[in-house]
Amino acid sequence: MEKRIIYLDNAATTPMDSEVLESMLPFMREQYGNPSAIYSMGSSAKKAVNQAKRRIAAILNAKQEEIFFTAGGTEADNWALKMVMETYRYKGRHLITTAIEHHAILHTCRYLETQGVEVTYLGVDEDGVIDLEELKQAIRPDTVLISVMFANNEVGTVEPIREIGEIARERGILFHTDAVQAFGQVPIDTEEMHIDLLSASGHKINGPKGVGFLYIRSGLELHSMLHGGAQESGRRAGTENVPGIVGMAVAAQKAADNMKTKGAAEMKLQDYLIDRIEREIPYCRLNGHRTKRLPGNVNFSFRFIQGESLVLMLDRKGICTSSGSACTSGELNPSHVLLALGRNEEEAEGALRITLSEKNSMEEMEFVVECLKEAVQKLRSISTQYTDFCRKNQKTLTEEI
Ligand SMILES: *Cc1c(COP(=O)(O)O)cnc(C)c1O
Repeated sequence: MEKRIIYLDNAATTPMDSEVLESMLPFMREQYGNPSAIYSMGSSAKKAVNQAKRRIAAILNAKQEEIFFTAGGTEADNWALKMVMETYRYKGRHLITTAIEHHAILHTCRYLETQGVEVTYLGVDEDGVIDLEELKQAIRPDTVLISVMFANNEVGTVEPIREIGEIARERGILFHTDAVQAFGQVPIDTEEMHIDLLSASGHKINGPKGVGFLYIRSGLELHSMLHGGAQESGRRAGTENVPGIVGMAVAAQKAADNMKTKGAAEMKLQDYLIDRIEREIPYCRLNGHRTKRLPGNVNFSFRFIQGESLVLMLDRKGICTSSGSACTSGELNPSHVLLALGRNEEEAEGALRITLSEKNSMEEMEFVVECLKEAVQKLRSISTQYTDFCRKNQKTLTEEI
């Protein structure tokens, strides 16, 4: 019998929706024309790309000509940060971001620092929310850009985007948001929220991998990052990934149409998991804001154990999860996000992230809780930190777990 897989890592990537796949196939089989070609197979590809832009723009309360397709969220983030700092170099060289951004932002900032850009990394409170007063204090006469993620990919905390947008607008500073986790999950209005630039990605919303977009407010000058042909109004060279673009737009449309029911279903499973874990597993702590969080994000720190070990034990039961920490070349680094939330090393290392989809069932959640309890118990029983802790507290292992 094939092993049942319970996929709970939707913040890392999502399975492609079958309607999305169907919408892409014609552009790989019969409609393979280059959108820049002037014969009809070319112009029909061009039409498909423009229709995809219209669809996505409508979801964001934006205009078709403000959407620029990229090869994913990482490229959109790189483009926004590098090219804003280059295009507006004459205005200043200061950029404000947060300590909890995705590496697509943080590592780009590190690069920009080697190029003479000064970066302020805002801290967050213990729930992962930035302080608007601290943001205002950080603004300098030479501040060019504020980049704050819409929602965090590890702990799911949603930032006060509208308020940040207002502050930026008042001070005449550009505002970029990495909305890769939020797009399709929560309502986004670029007008109302005063967003100047926004990044999103296809594969986080049941769309294809390797496609995303950067929203650039009209009238905003921004240098190209990729030079070559005149695609994307001359702002992003390279033959368009037509199947990917079409698929991403269908995925975005479906996500937007189903946002409420999907969110409600995920929240129900999320509440169930959080409630049972808090009640049935001792020495754990929820990471991220309790209410201002993405539906479907469950992130806990379990004391005395390693998140990676938990992930591996759950994998043996066919459950796909992730630890809060990034695993770089075999080295275990505690998550920069959890450390920024003020968690100590032990808590940061003992983190487990579960990110749900509306397709998960309550019955799966019951199974997950049972497997998690068993895994935590097993790992603690072989943890010297845990036995030391119990000895100190003069309690026996059996009493404790
Ligand atoms: C996944 C992710 C990215 C990177 O997007 P890709 O399309 O995989 O390059 C950037 N930012 C956040 C918040 C993400 O979750």
